[in-house]
Amino acid sequence: MEKILNYIDGAFTAPSSDNFFENVEPAVGKPYSLIPDSQSEDVEKAYLAAEKAFPTWSMLSVEERGDWLMKLSDGIAARMDEFVAAESRDNGKPLKLAAHVDIPRAISNFKFFATGIQHYASQSHEMVGVGVNYTLRKPIGVVGCISPWNLPLYLFTWKIAPALATGNCVVAKPSEITPFTAYLLCKVMDDVNFPKGVLNIVHGFGHSAGDAIVRHPKIKAISFTGGTKTGQMISSIAAPMFKKLSLELGGKYPNIIFDDCDFEEMLSTTVRSSFAKQGQICLCGSRIFVQKGIYEKFKQAFVEKVKGSKVSFPSDPAAHLGSVVSEPPMKKILSYIELAKEEGGTILTGGNQVKLAAPYDGGFYIEPTVIEGLSYDCRTNQEEIFGPVVTLTPFETEEEVLMMANSVEYGLSATIWTNDLKRAHNLAQQVDAGIVWINSWLVRDLRTPFGGVKASGVGREGGWEALNFFTEPKNVFIKY
Ligand code: NAD
Repeated sequence: MEKILNYIDGAFTAPSSDNFFENVEPAVGKPYSLIPDSQSEDVEKAYLAAEKAFPTWSMLSVEERGDWLMKLSDGIAARMDEFVAAESRDNGKPLKLAAHVDIPRAISNFKFFATGIQHYASQSHEMVGVGVNYTLRKPIGVVGCISPWNLPLYLFTWKIAPALATGNCVVAKPSEITPFTAYLLCKVMDDVNFPKGVLNIVHGFGHSAGDAIVRHPKIKAISFTGGTKTGQMISSIAAPMFKKLSLELGGKYPNIIFDDCDFEEMLSTTVRSSFAKQGQICLCGSRIFVQKGIYEKFKQAFVEKVKGSKVSFPSDPAAHLGSVVSEPPMKKILSYIELAKEEGGTILTGGNQVKLAAPYDGGFYIEPTVIEGLSYDCRTNQEEIFGPVVTLTPFETEEEVLMMANSVEYGLSATIWTNDLKRAHNLAQQVDAGIVWINSWLVRDLRTPFGGVKASGVGREGGWEALNFFTEPKNVFIKY
């Protein structure tokens, strides 16, 4: 079985312990590669390499750093097919999604920050007749980036690219559940002779390798995307050390549909926003609220479309849904379906594990599932399931739906379907979310702030927000 290796100081490196653990292919339920079980010694090596590289990297001009990031972007593009196949194999998502979303976005992330950094400016504030303040934006030093399994390379590079663009050196850890494309990124670094020690990638479990990054006294900022509980744990360690923290956490997204929306557009988008990537996008609309006037019409049309969604192995070109990422999430999702039944829910479609024919019979497949008849405040409607499961809830008024939408502890994103401009603006302002889509879903402009409120996180990624996070402002005043 192929051994994935860490990449430290420009070299492929086995973990100090020489221990590896299995990387399972979710579509078949069998291991296909081995992952380094890195510990604090490995993180220390990565830190020392980053510390050594920092003085040179941080003093490069923004054009030079931009050129290096473009080489990574081009390097991924040059190995496109390899990256697409690896992302789909590691995660279980349909191949066509990896080809159209994940890998193109990773390419764009490097390109976006390679060029963005060249337009990033700091401020000056004149005090007339007194003097002038100018504010420098200095890199922080060595920073840590930790990412989840649902959008593996997409979210990994979304952190690494702005961290590097601003002159930091990085110790990064991808999810142990989907490490392969981060490993391929190391091959790209090798291809392009990326400066040694600037970006170090350490593989391993969260409680060991991830924890060592968070606890490292000299890693001064942590950019983390993952579950809310993990985020809490990380902040309890990092906040008392006064580290800068960016936390992108869980969600329980409301999809609010009013009678007056464009029905067909809403319907096809809602099928995507419910089940894209097996519902394992933090932005998937797991709670669908439908105004009473179109509730029955929507229910019928939606269930019919969902029944037509094919669950299949990732390389099947006809697959709408692939496999869930691993066995524990599959069991968790199935247990929430049982909970929904106990809470009085009716399964309108789905609700079961899917068994495909060999060689996919050991894979982790679940039917897209639609449930109705639950109260807005039951556990199924309050807790993050993170799988192909949505609930339908009718409502009458704006006030009622707003109360239900905001009743959860999360606040990442929301969608509102209506042609009433005033209502759209009013609700967008009042719904608890960092991102609101009106008559659309998942339209992303990389310049815009991305992140959530409440238990969905602290801080924002994207555009200047990310560049601000990875820099320290230093104000200098000069007297006239
Ligand atoms: P997770 O929290 O289990 O793991 C995320 C990463 O953190 C992994 O690399 C893991 O190894 C590491 N980790 C785990 N424990 C750690 C610890 N104690 N110290 C340091 N690192 C640790 O999350 P997951 O299961 O990989 O991802 C799913 C979650 O991510 C969902 O809750 C989803 O909503 C969330 N998510 C949020 C966003 C967003 O932008 N807000 C985007 C994608 C996913």
